[in-house]
Amino acid sequence: SPDSPRKVTVAVIPGDGIGAEVMEPALGILEEIGPRHGLEFAWQHHGWSCEHYTRTGRMMPADGIDQLAGADQILLGAVGFPGVPDHVSLWGLLIPIRRAFRQYVNLRPVRLLPGIECPLRLREGEDIDFVVVRENNEGEYSEVGGRVYRGTEDEIAVQESVFTRRGVTRVARYALDLASSRRGSLASATKSNGIVHTMPFWDEVVHEVAAGYPGVEVADYHIDALAAQFVRDPGRFDVVVASNLFGDILTDLGAAMVGSIGIAPSGNLNPEKEHPSMFEPVHGSAPDIAGRGVANPLGMIWTASMMLDHLGHPEAGAELLSAVTATLTSGVRTPDLGGSASTGEVAEAVLEHLRDAA
Ligand code: ATP
Ligand code: MG
Repeated sequence: SPDSPRKVTVAVIPGDGIGAEVMEPALGILEEIGPRHGLEFAWQHHGWSCEHYTRTGRMMPADGIDQLAGADQILLGAVGFPGVPDHVSLWGLLIPIRRAFRQYVNLRPVRLLPGIECPLRLREGEDIDFVVVRENNEGEYSEVGGRVYRGTEDEIAVQESVFTRRGVTRVARYALDLASSRRGSLASATKSNGIVHTMPFWDEVVHEVAAGYPGVEVADYHIDALAAQFVRDPGRFDVVVASNLFGDILTDLGAAMVGSIGIAPSGNLNPEKEHPSMFEPVHGSAPDIAGRGVANPLGMIWTASMMLDHLGHPEAGAELLSAVTATLTSGVRTPDLGGSASTGEVAEAVLEHLRDAA
């Protein structure tokens, strides 16, 4: 019947440290909001983590990707553990998932929520509300290259970037579609004055695709100037598209501009929805505060709202984000935002605002 709920299977990877601490409340909140929008979630838990790695030598089982392939979406808390180098979790879990499922868009909203103190001095009426679209599958993070004459004075290290026409076209198209649905402006990060092969190629392909979007105004910015403009004039941006490395740097800068790392969300999207997408907060496992019940759950909760958007329920995503905003405005905050509430108290406040809105 048209009234029977849509079953959505979500692979849940809580991960390490506060990743696991913020996942529980986020799932509870999704269970509250889902049924209101005809969604019934089935969780598929995976205990893959750096802690698992220290016991087994693997971040995830050999058939991990196959196990995830059956899910509609993936929710990840955070992976990281003292003593386990970052590249282990990156190359043992995150990158294989992003690539296997063609999650070629890393989407990060940079939005100043009410009640968050901005480290920048904004002009009267200026608002920060833009989205960074980071290319997530190719570019500078490649395995092509090597080192020779190791340890000698003649040592050479070479690292190649790999940009493909298909790869740049599809991320440009995603960013242009997004800009069309927003304020019609796209900033493209480049460095074609210094990087003379890949960056002119990036620019050319972005503009070829943009020719099909007469309603979107496209501006190229060299990455150095773009970073400066983020700080000096953040209100001018709507959608920003960037290569893997440039996007990585810009998204951290973006997160720092709008307050705590504890609230920043992200999605690794397969826009065609042929494979699961993966949603994760920007923060890591935060071993310095793990186990104390003070982790800010809002990054994970905002991340859950992005998953609702991607599931084709932007009204549900917006409802959840409103509950996050209401919680911030009401002053219920974890210590990273200057408050004294616990993870559970903040999550409970979000639930209450959701129930009030129902
Ligand atoms: P990892 O190695 O997993 O990346 P990390 O400690 O290097 O962990 P983050 O987890 O991003 O990196 O933490 C950076 C800082 O921000 C830490 O001091 C951490 O306590 C704080 N922090 C991160 N996330 C949160 C959160 N959700 N709530 C409160 N503080 C947070
Ligand atoms: Mg870290």
